[in-house]
Amino acid sequence: MTLDRAARERLVRALAEAMIEHADELTSLDQAIGDGDHGLNMKRGFEAVLATLPGLADKALPEMLKAIGMTLVMKVGGASGPLVGTFFMELGKSLPEQPVRTEFIAATDKAINAVKARGRSEAGQKTLLDVLVPAQSVLAAGGDAKAIAVEAARAADRTTPMLAIRGRASFLGERSIGHMDPGSRSASLLIAAAVATLEREANS
Ligand code: ADP
Ligand code: MG
Repeated sequence: MTLDRAARERLVRALAEAMIEHADELTSLDQAIGDGDHGLNMKRGFEAVLATLPGLADKALPEMLKAIGMTLVMKVGGASGPLVGTFFMELGKSLPEQPVRTEFIAATDKAINAVKARGRSEAGQKTLLDVLVPAQSVLAAGGDAKAIAVEAARAADRTTPMLAIRGRASFLGERSIGHMDPGSRSASLLIAAAVATLEREANS
């Protein structure tokens, strides 16, 4: 797949818009089982990413993804910055400039492993990994953009009855049950924005 400069810029804008538009929702999820900053964290991070346009989109895809990751690590306070930033940085390190599907599958797998290492976490602990892992499985199994986005949204919903074992929500113990994990919701929004944009580019 080829993403030209304009397509790369559209991708960045779609990701940022998803976080900016949903900041209040992410904040209220984090108010229930965290410290209420997740919406602001992600919004601040992606506003900082937007501020690096247009130069950001001049970079080839791998360098662009690494730069996004570095900005998120630097600008997002909280646990999510280093984790989401690591995901983007590792994706950038692993992807070629014009990736084909198998390369996307391998790179997202590597990026997820980097998040696991960074967070000392696994799927099943009520974190963004509970969205990244199943969405990546749908990708690996040959699912299309729609299937990946649907699975990401369902996976975020499935974190609601889970007990948090990592992150701030784990301090609440059983009281973390019954609320959606904020990082899972933001991950599902980012995935939906990414696959919708990539599908549009592939069909154009
Ligand atoms: P903080 O928890 O520092 O306030 P945020 O509110 O921005 O940071 O992000 C919280 C989200 O980060 C959680 O909803 C969860 O998905 C994710 N998270 C927190 N700790 C971990 C971890 N160790 N591994 C994976 N994800 C984590
Ligand atoms: Mg928080």
